[in-house]
Amino acid sequence: MANCIIHQCEFMPSESCQIEGFQPQTDSEIDWKLVIYREATEEDLEESNYLEEEGDLLWQATLKLTFCPYCGKQLANMLQSTKYPEFSYEDFRSW
Ligand SMILES: [Zn+2]
Repeated sequence: MANCIIHQCEFMPSESCQIEGFQPQTDSEIDWKLVIYREATEEDLEESNYLEEEGDLLWQATLKLTFCPYCGKQLANMLQSTKYPEFSYEDFRSW
């Protein structure tokens, strides 16, 4: 069964970013990623027709991690070289 784990870290901002671990199966490696996001404010709602309420995501970017960039803790069990870019960016303000 898939598992999602949040890295609780006192050194990172409490909003606009999160470190998530995703484990597809109980015995598989956990994939860690940094998720950076921006939530809509009242002003954003006025500028975009695609947003419905405050707190809706404006955009979200993710980056695969081995270590926590805030406390330095090793999150992934193994160090693996990354040969292709494992990051993503999604914009929800337009289609
Ligand atoms: Zn940390």
